Amino acid sequence: MAMTQIDPAETGPQHVKILDAIIVGAGFSGLYQLHVLRDRLGLSARVLEAGAGIGGTWYWNRYPGARCDSESYYYSFSFSKELEQEWEWTERYPEQPEIMRYLNHVADRFDLRRDIQLETRVTGARFDAAANRWLVSTAGGEEYSAQFLITAVGCLSTANVPKIKGLDAFAGRWYHTGQWPHEGVDFTGQRVGLIGTGSTGIQAAPVIAEQAAHLTVFQRTPNYSVPARNGPMDAERRQQIKADYPEIRAKSRASTNGHPFDLSPRSALDASPEEREALYEAAWQQGGLRFRATFRDLLSDVQANETASAFIRSKIREIVHDPAVAERLTPVDHPFASKRPPIDSNYFETFNRDNVLLVDVRAAPIQEITPLGVRTSDAEYKLDILVFATGFDAMTGPLLALDIRGEDGASLRDLWSAGPRTYLGLQTAGFPNLFTITGPGSPSVLTNMPTAIEQHVDWIADCIAYMRGRGLQRIEATSAASDQWVEHVNEAANATLLPMASSSWYLGANVPGKPRVFMPYAGGMAKYAAICEQVAADGYPGFQLGR
Ligand code: NAP
Repeated sequence: MAMTQIDPAETGPQHVKILDAIIVGAGFSGLYQLHVLRDRLGLSARVLEAGAGIGGTWYWNRYPGARCDSESYYYSFSFSKELEQEWEWTERYPEQPEIMRYLNHVADRFDLRRDIQLETRVTGARFDAAANRWLVSTAGGEEYSAQFLITAVGCLSTANVPKIKGLDAFAGRWYHTGQWPHEGVDFTGQRVGLIGTGSTGIQAAPVIAEQAAHLTVFQRTPNYSVPARNGPMDAERRQQIKADYPEIRAKSRASTNGHPFDLSPRSALDASPEEREALYEAAWQQGGLRFRATFRDLLSDVQANETASAFIRSKIREIVHDPAVAERLTPVDHPFASKRPPIDSNYFETFNRDNVLLVDVRAAPIQEITPLGVRTSDAEYKLDILVFATGFDAMTGPLLALDIRGEDGASLRDLWSAGPRTYLGLQTAGFPNLFTITGPGSPSVLTNMPTAIEQHVDWIADCIAYMRGRGLQRIEATSAASDQWVEHVNEAANATLLPMASSSWYLGANVPGKPRVFMPYAGGMAKYAAICEQVAADGYPGFQLGR
């Protein structure tokens, strides 16, 4: 459709650059949102990206072992059939450099770079209600005015470095996995400490252990993990996938988690112990996140879940030679997959190495970081390098860092002081023309991210096209619709076992002082997409549209 063409270089009276849309972030979501708004709708749009390169989470997370937990063939864009056919994935799970090559290829193929401004950190965004426009400012002192502000900042992009006394005085080097140096870190001959045993720590530990002189893993909460079983993608499999893409994508969209898996229709409790064991064993051998799909009720029934949890615990005891170490690695305080389940390559096996030590910091908490290393309540561990795999201020952190102020200057931070409140995870009352891709209240982190991202980007683009077609200038979620949605998000979470993991980042529990609210929408990708589609088909109930 024809749109007002405004030269992005055009400047207003105070050198404010005028655009139709500003997109913040150049990861999967920002790249696709730019392509759709610019090339499908004809809007003037620009991506502002803090990093010196595109890639979003994959630009920053370059830690040893960084690899996607979703399989390459579906952790990818589906919007271009040509792209699907021409790109050749080399492994079952893509490694960080391969995803970066893919995203850079996408940026080139769709000529996106000319509208992406790198090394540009957004420091504030203010809504001008009289003009129905967002005024966006950057750390470099630039000002933009855009009708639409679209955050594509990711859910896991604000590193959480715990405030442990003494870090400043540490004589060695320290790193957070989410801000990994681009030149890499050489662990050769070094005594390395790793704090954190989430998905990241579980990927990093085996790789660091192979290179370092010694690795000490500081574990607060033991975690379940299933083998990834990574391997090369052979030519035959690649061809088959390419031929099957329409079905694969349709299956992903029709699923709960955005993965093209068949969820078993059976309850774990309907199978005999022998049958269950055989099915879990087969899933363990196959590897990956599809272990969760072995039975339909692993995330909704505590007893059913316990059969899977017990199976993984028995595997840990089988793999780890020292029974005391195995016991310390065995999760008991939450059901399997109530936290985001990691998958691994030789994680538990790593603790059989002579140069690896597991320290239980729940039993003996970290007291301080000394110049020489980490001191717990019962020992000091001497280290040359300390790695924080301590996660992120998830979902709300990256949005609040933008200092967004809506109508009457109200700040998003104040509005969300008791937890995020959105309508469909897409909009927040009081913040017209602001769209959040994979925001809190959307399935986002509970899904294969590209599936969720494409659904959001397309919905936002359709909404903008609808507005433009009718001469509408603003759209804003109503408070009533937001309240109802927040209630529905809570109901959906409570229908699952997910809230049982009381220390999970889904609940914000990993960041001291953060409100404990279950943030993602657990009703499933397919159900969520159907709700969004219906809202659009019905003329956007729950939103106020105006001129
Ligand atoms: P995470 O799941 O939040 O894990 C953080 C770890 O650090 C936990 O073991 C936590 O212990 C520990 N920790 C935090 N503060 C601590 C402290 N003060 N003292 C001791 N331990 C502390 O973070 P993550 O591993 O980076 O993963 C975050 C998410 O990123 C994942 O769940 C996943 O969604 C995504 N991710 C994806 C991939 C992939 O697809 N390849 C890879 C990595 C991450 P507690 O459990 O006790 O809090």
